[in-house]
Amino acid sequence: MRILVVEDDPDLNRQLVTALGDAGYVVDKAMDGEEGHYLGETEPYDAVVLDLGLPVLDGVSVLEKWRRAGKKMPVLILTARDRWSDKVAGFDAGADDYVPKPFHMEEVLARVRALLRRTAGHATSEITCGPMVLDTKSARVTVNGTAIKLTSLEFRLLAYLMHHVGKVVSRTELVEHLYDQDFDRDSNTIEVFVGRLRKKLGVDVLHTIRGMGYCISEPDNAK
Ligand code: CA
Repeated sequence: MRILVVEDDPDLNRQLVTALGDAGYVVDKAMDGEEGHYLGETEPYDAVVLDLGLPVLDGVSVLEKWRRAGKKMPVLILTARDRWSDKVAGFDAGADDYVPKPFHMEEVLARVRALLRRTAGHATSEITCGPMVLDTKSARVTVNGTAIKLTSLEFRLLAYLMHHVGKVVSRTELVEHLYDQDFDRDSNTIEVFVGRLRKKLGVDVLHTIRGMGYCISEPDNAK
């Protein structure tokens, strides 16, 4: 899952990027509203953490422009404490949730997790497919109750597919959501990672749909 952080405070920006990266997400960052708006409009993010007080273009304007352009990704806004009018303006502009500053990083992470799984239609932190369970809170994967050890990229790949369980995801879409903007992308490597992941999982849940992409579904649905 790929996240955009738009925050002009350098320390806070770095803390958010680090914490989200440690939590297993791919993270792009912007330091002002214009850069943030551009990235959000041109790159496919699964969620955005958006500060409201930003130079060049303020957060509410950024959000309004995205929504007017039809961008539907979930957006968590960061608001100044006790500024109820900020929250109202943010929600009216199309925000999905907010965290007042100063905040505990754990709360931001929990709210991002909730936004991602609600967008994908999951009500709890665990996503299940047959014998496989992905716990988005602890970033753990189990098959028939046994924990599976994955590299961070394998986990990202599986997490993205699990958030879209039952749907066919193209290789291009995977590349866009598994790597940040600076990464030298090569969609051929995805095939290699899928092969490794399939082997590690040991159950037939990760299917290749010829010419279209990949799909996670229960073993019974396998062809
Ligand atoms: Ca700010």
